[in-house]
Amino acid sequence: MGSKGDNVAVCNMKLERLLSMKGGKGQDSYANNSQAQAMHARSMLHLLEETLDNVHLNSSANPSPFTAVDLGCSSGANTIHIIDFIVKHISKRFDTAGIDPPEFTAFFSDLPNNDFNTLFQLLPPLVSNSCMEECLAADGNRSYFVAGVPGSFYRRLFPARTIDIFHSAFSLHWLSQVPESVTDRRSAAYNRGKVFIHGAGEKIATAYKRQFQADLAGFLRARAAEVKRGGAMFLVCLGRTSVDPTDQGGAGLLFGTHFQDAWDDLVSESLVAAEKRDGFNIPVYAPSLQDFKEVVEADGSFTIEKLVVYKGGSPLVVSEPDDASEVGRAFASSCRSVAGVLVEAHIGEELSNELFSRVERRATSHAKDVLVNLQFFHIVASLSFT
Ligand code: SAH
Repeated sequence: MGSKGDNVAVCNMKLERLLSMKGGKGQDSYANNSQAQAMHARSMLHLLEETLDNVHLNSSANPSPFTAVDLGCSSGANTIHIIDFIVKHISKRFDTAGIDPPEFTAFFSDLPNNDFNTLFQLLPPLVSNSCMEECLAADGNRSYFVAGVPGSFYRRLFPARTIDIFHSAFSLHWLSQVPESVTDRRSAAYNRGKVFIHGAGEKIATAYKRQFQADLAGFLRARAAEVKRGGAMFLVCLGRTSVDPTDQGGAGLLFGTHFQDAWDDLVSESLVAAEKRDGFNIPVYAPSLQDFKEVVEADGSFTIEKLVVYKGGSPLVVSEPDDASEVGRAFASSCRSVAGVLVEAHIGEELSNELFSRVERRATSHAKDVLVNLQFFHIVASLSFT
């Protein structure tokens, strides 16, 4: 292998080692900026239920634990609510079928830089075995064993045929890396002047789309080895309704308008060199239904039970929609909670503060537009494995 191959590995490794949502419980933390995701997830619970109803229940006398995984769990409470929902729903199914339920195990998985400590602190206490059944109905208790699993979901994470259900929400739009050509000045796909694919040229769009499809293919390969026969996956990621990949919908407005303009401010104020800005790209791709479907079909391991674009709504939760400064603050916090770690790694904390204060100012002066037009669509996929 030549040095080019080595560079790919280093590049890949870098994002994997770096990426996380903002940890802790502060104003810009993911834990404090994911209420909208919680609401969007709640609105899709009936779809998750359909997937869970398809999962095979093992009725043997000594079954292995029923094992659920949340991929891209991050560090807020959302992942715990989802795992709770899954365990309760499956327990009920065992009950209704008159089968003694097995024990439950849940794996919370994310990249190694994720704030697993904050997540673990949010976990409710485990109930003792003797009262497991009666406590299943009670909130504030945990009736399953847990472990955290660090690693990229684009590769293997679990032993073969050990997982009953994979869940992943709002994570698969994160690419494993920024496509190399996009930051290569000699390449026709160099994303000059921009920090995201939204509104960029066709060659850049193609590079992003290829990266997304190669990543999703790796994800499916890994999961196909790990899932038990009769198991299933419920996947939700940012999606778009436009066929044109340079129109990234809600993600485009989040990263392609005030965030982009704030970078341009730093450049015109000579705080950041133009090339430094151009070296930064958000490794996110909101696929169309077609982009997603092509990969699942080409892989061929999973049956598509459902594949739809679902309207999620705004990522902003504001108490006073008429208060422009609250809207601006919410926009900047939301943006920083997901992209702040990457920005800080690129230009440092001080300039990152400068950047996000400009994002806030700009979003404040466009508050009405932000509230009305910043809407997320999601791809929802229910896949089964036989
Ligand atoms: N599922 C949570 C969090 C979504 S935030 C919720 O519903 O609120 C997206 C998460 O995906 C982040 O924590 C990020 O670190 C994770 N992620 C991104 N790329 C990943 C990868 N390649 N492997 C594992 N996790 C990844």
